[in-house]
Amino acid sequence: MNDNQTELAQLTEQELDPAQLHRIHFNRAAQYIEGLKRGLIEFLKSPKRSIAVCFPVEMDDGSVRTFHGYRVVHNRVFGPGKGGVRYHPAVTREEVIAMASLMTWKCALLELPFGGAKGGVVCDPKSLSEAELRRITRRFITELGDFIGPYTDIPAPDLYTDEKTMAWIFDTYDILHPGHNNRPVVTGKPLDIGGSLGREEATGQGLLFATEHLLGKGIINGLQSVSGTRVVVQGFGNAGSVAAKRFHEAGALVVGISDSQGGIYSEDGINPAAALAFKEEHGTVVGMPDTMSKTNEELLSLNCDILIPAATGDQITADNADSVQARLVAEAANRPTTPAADQILANKGIVVLPDIVANAGGVTVSYYEWVQNNENERWDIDLVNFKMKQRMERAVDCVFDRWFALKEEAGENDEPVDLRTAAMAVAIDRVAYATLERGIWP
Ligand code: NAD
Repeated sequence: MNDNQTELAQLTEQELDPAQLHRIHFNRAAQYIEGLKRGLIEFLKSPKRSIAVCFPVEMDDGSVRTFHGYRVVHNRVFGPGKGGVRYHPAVTREEVIAMASLMTWKCALLELPFGGAKGGVVCDPKSLSEAELRRITRRFITELGDFIGPYTDIPAPDLYTDEKTMAWIFDTYDILHPGHNNRPVVTGKPLDIGGSLGREEATGQGLLFATEHLLGKGIINGLQSVSGTRVVVQGFGNAGSVAAKRFHEAGALVVGISDSQGGIYSEDGINPAAALAFKEEHGTVVGMPDTMSKTNEELLSLNCDILIPAATGDQITADNADSVQARLVAEAANRPTTPAADQILANKGIVVLPDIVANAGGVTVSYYEWVQNNENERWDIDLVNFKMKQRMERAVDCVFDRWFALKEEAGENDEPVDLRTAAMAVAIDRVAYATLERGIWP
């Protein structure tokens, strides 16, 4: 019995925490890497550094509340930690560890000079005022102190954090470290304080580049391009709304959209720009004229070609994977599909373009922002998108080639090999090789 089977045999998926679920994805890929020493496997699976902080914040009504936050650096073999900060009530240390690990594999796949990191504060941003969010951010960053820095660990936006949050992070760090060019300490900043053109759209734009390139390889019969496909998007924030717009512009029909309050469907297609304007006015897409309301559960099982999960983790699970009707799941969100769901989708012949490739446009343009900050330069949007497209396509090529090779090697009775396993195998290989090349200290 291998590590995965032991872990799954002891607990059901609902009982496994996000870090354990991620280890199942890791183990699936690691079994295909020859000569990976057991001790090295343990190192690659474990977070290098995990910080938990607790701090009080004065609320607008004068009361005081205690908040808990985490920052994890999973691996620094290729460079400083890089990864988002999320504000959400469901943030846990285990979730942050799982997402920091994902960032390690993502940066390795995209050949970025960063390791993986992630952070989060347990809070409900929807119930907090802007001033309260600013005080939480400043105090969180102060608590992290010199554990973040332009060459040690570099935060970015994630769920329910945005360029405003990044501006507060920069400002706090800059006040604490006067006399230096501190712009590269955080990415996803507003343009006028060192943000990059194209960063806000990068995740959705990159998803389109990666999906187009994958479909162009003929991996799905009869689906050679995004143009003419029917698309459903779960989650309509930064990643989801930009993806919907870009896929619409590329000739797809967006038939379903959802946010945390529910979903909408239209057989004739939904204009993403109109949906965004409706959401800005009403706080949700639900109720948009000429659409039918759907629950989030119904949305995931709509008849479509491409399903884009762009919300939170663990959305496609053993309980609902069988009802997914899409032919391609393109993961804009981080870890939206559980390991058991992966197997169900693979057995149904549904291709999953995994998060570590699909949504890597965000961290890629974050890297470009960091480079521009270090050089005190501003690149134009065409240059940013040209460079990002090339890098995304190169990553898709590597994943596709590895998948093809693994598929050829597999026996008739073996489980089908999916793109996630291939992508993880490429990334683990690179990090393992670089670790040994640097030499185990001392
Ligand atoms: P965001 O806060 O801008 O948007 C989140 C959206 O998801 C909102 O529309 C919210 O209403 C919706 N949502 C929340 N829970 C939902 C649910 N249960 N069902 C349906 N919708 C739900 O966040 P974002 O930055 O767009 O991030 C979304 C996902 O993409 C996250 O998993 C994040 O880790 C991933 N991601 C984001 C980036 C980036 O650059 N922003 C990069 C890579 C990956």
